[in-house]
Amino acid sequence: MAEFVDGWFFGHTLGEGAYGEVKLVINKTTGEAVAMKMIDLQKHPDAKQNMKKEATVHRMLSNPNIIRYYGQRSEATMEYIFLEYASGGELFDRIEPDIGMPSWEAQRYFKQLISAVEYLHGHGVAHRDLKPENLLLDDKDNLKVSDFGLATVYRLQGRERLLEKRCGTLPYVAPEVLVHPYRAEPADVWSCGIILVALLAGELPWDEANPQCPEYAAWIEAKYMSLTPWKKLDTIPLGLIRNVLIHAPVSRFKITDIKTHRWYLKNLCKDNSEDCIDGGRLKCLRYDEEAITRLGLSQPEFPDTENQVFQINLDERPGFSFSQPAALEDLFLSTQPVQNTQTSQNTFQRLVKRMTRFFVKTDCEETVRTLVKTLKEQNYTCRVNDVGIVTVSTVDRRKMPLVFKAIMVEMDGQILVDFRLSKGCGLEFKRRFIRIKERLDSVIFKGSVTWPIAVATKTMP
Ligand code: AMP
Repeated sequence: MAEFVDGWFFGHTLGEGAYGEVKLVINKTTGEAVAMKMIDLQKHPDAKQNMKKEATVHRMLSNPNIIRYYGQRSEATMEYIFLEYASGGELFDRIEPDIGMPSWEAQRYFKQLISAVEYLHGHGVAHRDLKPENLLLDDKDNLKVSDFGLATVYRLQGRERLLEKRCGTLPYVAPEVLVHPYRAEPADVWSCGIILVALLAGELPWDEANPQCPEYAAWIEAKYMSLTPWKKLDTIPLGLIRNVLIHAPVSRFKITDIKTHRWYLKNLCKDNSEDCIDGGRLKCLRYDEEAITRLGLSQPEFPDTENQVFQINLDERPGFSFSQPAALEDLFLSTQPVQNTQTSQNTFQRLVKRMTRFFVKTDCEETVRTLVKTLKEQNYTCRVNDVGIVTVSTVDRRKMPLVFKAIMVEMDGQILVDFRLSKGCGLEFKRRFIRIKERLDSVIFKGSVTWPIAVATKTMP
């Protein structure tokens, strides 16, 4: 511990990746916040090599829509990666299953995604796992591409190489990746097209882009108009998607084509999901408003462990700079009282968008009991650990593993039940969450919770 720098402590767990947890670490004095990926090398001996590659690619990137890489630290059995902290969570949390989001919002995120991908390709880097789980949001709701675990350099000194590795997440993977050596750029562009469908329709069009898959077969045969998700989409965005999700990579839209498409250039704005000039009507359910009504007022962040003193060695890492100011919820984790009501309001508005959590009227034990009973009634297999975390392991409708957790957190005498995806499809996770939540209606607290919340919070034993 001697090499570490004093004054940094753990905040809450931000999420769980393939190799382990991602935690928030905060500078006690300045409130500056950094995300720290922790990889247990005993559990994942293969991770070291992959991390090295990830670091090599990620550290050379610098773009407002890409998570900044700050550095890494190696210990005998642990690896740590330090990243810019995206306090707005995952883009997934803004997608309402089977609905999507208002088109102005989808357009804004999509433009930021395209800008990041254009930057990556300009530097000869392919991401190869673009999906909403890997798109994070900062405190101003700006999209940040993250997770460069599968990224690779495909062009060096002007010479492009074809890629061989079949990788990515099946529903987002381009058809040619499944069968041939493939070109990097069209494959990433394809994933952007699938992401756009998820943003606008709240669902994915197929399990995989393989003509054996009936939904994909219908798409390539242009027999899809009466099918979902296509029938939910307006003609203009559908026109763009049709050109992005073209089977043959040579005919597929390039980024320059996307950027000049009518929908991309359309002036969509917040108060009116249609073109501002046309004055059309809002078509999509406004997720924010619905979340506010359904969840009550406050959805605060929380730390999940007692504050542990944690220290980081900053000296060895070139370019490591804690320039990211802490968001309001980070300050909750420190000892500073929150004064600025204007900021509180903005942060509050942002936090209510996370929909997979709710307050309950019951105490911790009763909540766990009720939840387990409800899960069993819905034929889920679950286990409860000794700190009251309920882990549900199941398979989704694509027969892919789906694992999520419900964590009970006491906040100022009230219990917050926070659902988090550990493994599998985020949209499927949300569908399940909604069904479970409906069954728990009698114990859900519907009133408002005092805002700002008290500073002292901890995970329930
Ligand atoms: P990963 O290991 O990159 O798949 O990350 C797992 C989860 O941790 C993500 O889905 C996010 O919810 C969260 N996470 C990862 N990196 C960050 C970050 N830089 N800022 C905030 N949350 C993050």
